[in-house]
Amino acid sequence: MRPNRKGWCPSAHRPMMSGDGLLVRIKPAYGQLSSAQIENIADLSDEFGHGLIDVTSRANLQLRGVQEAHYPALLSALKRANLVASQANQDALNLTLAPFTQTGSLGWRCAKQLYDAAADFAELPAKFGFAVDCNRTRYLHTASADIRIETDADGQLLLRCATLPAGLPSSETELLADIVMLTSWFSEQCQQLSSSIRQRMPDILNQQKLPEQWVSAAPRPETARLQAGQVRDGLYVAAAPYGQLGSADLRALASVNEVVHITTGRCLILSKLPTTEHCLITNACDPRLHIAACPGQPHCQAASIQTRALADHLISENLLPTGRDIHISGCAKGCAAATPRDLCIVGNQGQFDIVEKGCAWQAPNYTSLTDTTLLKQLKILAG
Ligand code: SF4
Repeated sequence: MRPNRKGWCPSAHRPMMSGDGLLVRIKPAYGQLSSAQIENIADLSDEFGHGLIDVTSRANLQLRGVQEAHYPALLSALKRANLVASQANQDALNLTLAPFTQTGSLGWRCAKQLYDAAADFAELPAKFGFAVDCNRTRYLHTASADIRIETDADGQLLLRCATLPAGLPSSETELLADIVMLTSWFSEQCQQLSSSIRQRMPDILNQQKLPEQWVSAAPRPETARLQAGQVRDGLYVAAAPYGQLGSADLRALASVNEVVHITTGRCLILSKLPTTEHCLITNACDPRLHIAACPGQPHCQAASIQTRALADHLISENLLPTGRDIHISGCAKGCAAATPRDLCIVGNQGQFDIVEKGCAWQAPNYTSLTDTTLLKQLKILAG
C-alpha cells in the first residue's frame, strides 16, 4: 500500500503535506497567467518554497516545499496577487479548459459560467473535476475529469460523465441546471456507498447506471493529442521536464510572453520561447516526456538520491528503455506518480531499488543497487 497517501487534491486554501513540505496549488482561471503573475509565482516560490514549481496534469501550478509556519503569509500574498480565489469553495473548483480555446468562444463562456457559479456549488470530493472541451477537435478526451462539457457533431453542447461514450444533451442556458442535476445524482449515489469508494465519478459509474437520456449524445469524433513543438498560428507547445519548472524558468518565460497558458499534459502554450538557456521540452521525441521525477535531494528530507540529476544522467548515457514510462523517486512514497509505470527507480538509503511495472511503494524486483550495479541492471533491462 502507498505510504502516507493523502485522500485529497491540494489547493491554495487546502494545502497538502508532502515529503518536502506543503504543496500549495494555484489554479489559474482559464489556464491563463499574465507575465506579472508568472513573475510573482517565481518570487513566492523562492521566498516560501524551494524554488521548484510543479506543472500538474490538470493545468495547475503547485508550489513545493512550503513550511507550515510560512503558509499563512503565502496565502495572503497569493490573494493579493489575484492568484487564488478569495473563498475556499471557489478555489476548490477543478476546471481544465481545452488548449486553443479562444476568449469569448463557447468553451470560454461555459468555463465562465462554472467559475461564476463555483461559490454556490454543493461540496464535491476534492478531486472531482470538469473538462471543458468544446472546440472542433477535442484535446481533453484522455484527461482526468468527472464531467466533460463538449459538443456533438452539430455543435450542440453535451455533458458527458467520466469516460462514458455519450452524454446528456445540454445548452448554454441549461448548462448550470444540468450540472447541478448530474452532481446531485453523484452526491446521492455517494451517500449510499462507503466513503472509501466515493471519490470520483468512475467509482460511482462502476456501481450505478445513469438514466438513458443522460447518455444519448455522442461527442465530436475528432480528437488529438497535444505535442511539444511549434504549432498553429506560430504558437509553441512546451512541456515541463519531469513535470517541474524552476523559478528561473518562470522568469525566463515571463520575459518574452505577455500571457502563458497552462494546459493539459503538463504543457504550456507560448507565443515565444525564452531567448536565454532554458529546460523546456519543445520536441515531441524528447525522452524526458516519459519520465516523472520528484524533487529528490537536496529539496526533500526524505530523499536519499538526486532524482533529476539521475534522470539527466541516464538519458545522456542512453540507459533508459525507449518509449517506456519511467518514474524516478527519491523514496518509496512515490510523490511524482500515483499510477504504475513501466519502470520505477527508487532511492533506498542512498542506494537504488527497481520496481518493474508497478508503483514506487511496491515490492522491488531488484534492491539495494549501487551506482554501478544500477547502471548494469538498467543496461540489461534496456535490452
Ligand atoms: S517521493 Fe520524493 S518528494 Fe516524495 S517524500 Fe519521497 S523523496 Fe520526497
